[in-house]
Amino acid sequence: MTLDAPLRDQILASVEAGFDEQLAFTQEMIRLQSLRGAEHSCQDFVFRALRARGFAMDRFAMDRTAIEAHPGGSPWSADHSDAPIVVGTHYPQQETGRSLILQAHVDVVPTGPDTLWTHAPFDPVIEGDWLYGRGGADMKAGHAANLFCLDALHRIGFAPAATVHIQSVVEEESTGNGALMTYLRGYQAEAVLIPEPEEEMLVRANVGVLWFQVELRGLPKHVREMGNGANAIDAAYRVIAELRQLEAEWNAQKGNHEYFGDLDHPINLNIGKIEGGDWASSVPAWCRIDCRISLYPGITATEAAEEIRARVERFARADTFLANALPEVTFNGFHAEGYVQPPGTEAEAVLARAHEGATGDRLQSFVTPGYLDTRVYALYNRIPSLCYGPISENIHGFDERVSLRSLKRITGAMALFVAEWCGLERIEG
Ligand code: ZN
Repeated sequence: MTLDAPLRDQILASVEAGFDEQLAFTQEMIRLQSLRGAEHSCQDFVFRALRARGFAMDRFAMDRTAIEAHPGGSPWSADHSDAPIVVGTHYPQQETGRSLILQAHVDVVPTGPDTLWTHAPFDPVIEGDWLYGRGGADMKAGHAANLFCLDALHRIGFAPAATVHIQSVVEEESTGNGALMTYLRGYQAEAVLIPEPEEEMLVRANVGVLWFQVELRGLPKHVREMGNGANAIDAAYRVIAELRQLEAEWNAQKGNHEYFGDLDHPINLNIGKIEGGDWASSVPAWCRIDCRISLYPGITATEAAEEIRARVERFARADTFLANALPEVTFNGFHAEGYVQPPGTEAEAVLARAHEGATGDRLQSFVTPGYLDTRVYALYNRIPSLCYGPISENIHGFDERVSLRSLKRITGAMALFVAEWCGLERIEG
């Protein structure tokens, strides 16, 4: 169905009417500090909110064996979350529209030093147009919008005329295994929408991501005999330089990858963590670096991992010290491919109308250089996969914040999208 103007305005007014409650819900989610491995209470909060709304509930654990056997599964490190995945399903009285998955993650990244935050990281302060807090923009605001866009329809007597699965996952910030688990559980639909903070634009293409750790071993010596010791920290510098070289080579190939040629620096290598040594006056015998690199869509995670492993080994064999103690490369997190959401789908056309209806602007698309769970739906569910969400600042940084005006517009666009994609039916009684 296409929406006539009176119905559109009625839906947007209903989003407005529910917005205070939506904000309070989002703030409550931010207070639940769902860092990796500690998402249980937040998932429980979501479970109760969905159950109270009458969704058919499913709560299940991630299946390590099934995930690791799938090409899109990431390895299971000691830090892997054991929090459950939560799905609430709306079933219509009559299935006349197109089915939909609305997905969001509850896991948030570490805060870094509190002193760098204006407000405490998990204190959901509102100042002007901004809601602050770790995980507010990425992506509890979008998560709440998944529920509240349906609430807005409900408030004016409508429900989607098709099956809608609301999925609440974990491990989005480290492996993508939570999203993959919903696929392995058997969830499918005719489209998915994930309201990540995407500046009110649609993600056209997205890189894949690999996490790996390089462990170097040296030879411990007193510093007075330093010339004879292999310094593992110095060796790590050399390995990092070689990885930077690989990063530059991959960036130089951007012209071969549709949608990526115009980006400045599509492939980012991050040396995210470094540990090593035991004592200021001992030549360090060990060093570990934790790295994250992106890959273009169409390159499998396995291929890229193999290239990294071979590159580190080749470099080490030519290095006097490292040749005798080859560094160990372990893939310990994201093992995920990128995706392209090609233009021209009906789902995108419906989103574009919804976006225009809510904002008055044409929907724009862009290419993102970070991991998105959307890849699971694009690559494995093989359905139109729309990643689209509110304006934000400083996600993964300090003073992470989401624009409230933008969040309201996005929630309006999502409600209009659901209304047209799924169709509407009158709530009985
Ligand atoms: Zn996110």
